[in-house]
Amino acid sequence: MRVLLLSDIHSNLEALEACLAAAPPYDIVVNLGDIVGYGGSPNEVIERARELGRFFVRGNHDKAATGLMDLTDFNPIAGLAALWTREQLSADNLEWLHSLPQGPIEVDGLPNVQFVHGSPVDEDEYVVTLRDAIEPLLTSSAAVTFFGHTHLQGCFSSSNAASDFFRPLYNTVGQSERSEFPLKRGLRYLVNPGSVGQPRDGDWRAGFAMYDSDAAVVTFCRVPYNLKASQERILAANLPQRLATRLAAGR
Ligand code: ZN
Repeated sequence: MRVLLLSDIHSNLEALEACLAAAPPYDIVVNLGDIVGYGGSPNEVIERARELGRFFVRGNHDKAATGLMDLTDFNPIAGLAALWTREQLSADNLEWLHSLPQGPIEVDGLPNVQFVHGSPVDEDEYVVTLRDAIEPLLTSSAAVTFFGHTHLQGCFSSSNAASDFFRPLYNTVGQSERSEFPLKRGLRYLVNPGSVGQPRDGDWRAGFAMYDSDAAVVTFCRVPYNLKASQERILAANLPQRLATRLAAGR
């Protein structure tokens, strides 16, 4: 099965459209949460995401925008954006977002694979370092876990002997690029497809990944998108300027 993995779109419609246009053929789409928050197109992004299928886990920003999570855990800018998002959402989109399941979820036809927003241990936990990854790698029921939340594209792995970290290397700063990562039999993996709408690894391009379960290969992808249009939507909504400028820096 060929799975298109989208995570942390954060109401960035231009980035989402660029990913969908660049994606190789796929059988299903799995969305790892944070569909909204930060960006200027929450309704449009939800509607586009809903057209793509039925596999979703909720993110912390989805919970914040729908009142499922207390905003005291959010920094002031994220909190403002969550409140703005809540005001913008149509009743139908708000209800749909509110009903998204907590991870981990599994998908028929993909044995030994699970999907979460933060970590299989805690949906709101950030898995940033190899140290953070050890517990979920060792304790999760599935050999391969796809996760988001950190907005950092890459992969953690562990065997009985060692743990490792892989981050895709790209050759350009503005082209569409792919980086293939074959999964080895017997290892356990935590794989982050990167953030569609607000990358934080210093690369402004939208990030996503493909997983081919028959070939056991993850392909990390980066694509340029209409950054200016996305920034203009944020500014036109009177959201904090920093939410627009950070997109250009990939931070
Ligand atoms: Zn996020």
